[in-house]
Amino acid sequence: MKFRAAVFYEKGKPLAVEEVESPPIGPDEVLVKQFSSGICHSQLHQILNPTNPMPMIMGHESTGVVVAKGRNVTHVKEGDHVMVTWIPRDGDENWPKIRPQGVYVNWRGQQAKSTNVYTWAEATQAHHQYVVKMPNEFPTDVTAIIGCAVMTGAGAVMNTAKVKRGDSVAVIGVGGVGLSSVAAAAALGANPVIAVDLDEAKLEFARKFGATHGVNASSGDPVEAIRKLTSGGVDFAFDTIGAPKTQVQIAQATRPGIGGVREGGTAVLVGIPQTEVTVDLWRTLVAQARIYRSSLGGSSRPDRDFPIFLDWYKRGQLKLNDLVTKKYTLDQINEGVHDLERGRIFGRSIMEFAKP
Ligand SMILES: [Zn+2]
Repeated sequence: MKFRAAVFYEKGKPLAVEEVESPPIGPDEVLVKQFSSGICHSQLHQILNPTNPMPMIMGHESTGVVVAKGRNVTHVKEGDHVMVTWIPRDGDENWPKIRPQGVYVNWRGQQAKSTNVYTWAEATQAHHQYVVKMPNEFPTDVTAIIGCAVMTGAGAVMNTAKVKRGDSVAVIGVGGVGLSSVAAAAALGANPVIAVDLDEAKLEFARKFGATHGVNASSGDPVEAIRKLTSGGVDFAFDTIGAPKTQVQIAQATRPGIGGVREGGTAVLVGIPQTEVTVDLWRTLVAQARIYRSSLGGSSRPDRDFPIFLDWYKRGQLKLNDLVTKKYTLDQINEGVHDLERGRIFGRSIMEFAKP
């Protein structure tokens, strides 16, 4: 199948929006004509600091309609609306052996490869494990961010941390992922839910999604502010940025435990670290009996979790219509990446290819 896609072919150059061609569909694959795709910080990292072989095709969250499927695919059929993600929907121990590496399209006589899926294109061909069914009653634009932003941010709260009613929560960084964490914490009954960011307007925006307090890290030590609001520290602190400073702050902001009596709070690293950090683990963690965890893709099981996120959306607990603040066309992708790099995006931006 021929369709247009954004191809990243050289560091420092804008992405090229050109016609590509997908290879014949494999027995475990699904061909999806796309409605919308999210524009995520992971792709920005890939563009600024490419580690994959070039040229590459990018993007890893979207919505679309199934137009063809391989003979082994049974959970979706032609005409079904679906969400595309980058975590297997119901993978098992065999998954690492069959996980597709670098799916490709033909571009200018060579192959442009992706990491495991690609969604910055009018169509995508993906292993069925990355394709989750979505009932037709749901909109197809704002739901495009469930496959990464919501799964990662809300999943970290619901699955990795298992936040319960009455737990205190702090979320550092309130972009698309962080706001999903805030919304999940509020939906699960956490209180307080403290949003931390460098931008006053973004903190105000976070209140829409359930933040009870905002801490501006540009005007003082956020750890001190969180401790003051919670008499000593939160039960759970999430870092959705992954910067050297914030990776440590989430540990410091959790409540200390008492050796032999009770454990301290839990710090959860959600953002992808770009550099190594040096930490005094004795003072930061061990002496306070604190717990430090990471969360990859929100520890999500898409087949199990995406219906929960859609249900929250239906109940008004996950305000995807507010979370998506900007839409681009495929031809505007370089503008979209630029806006994200400049910190101009509240929540999440998406690309729209077609309406259902
Ligand atoms: Zn992402």
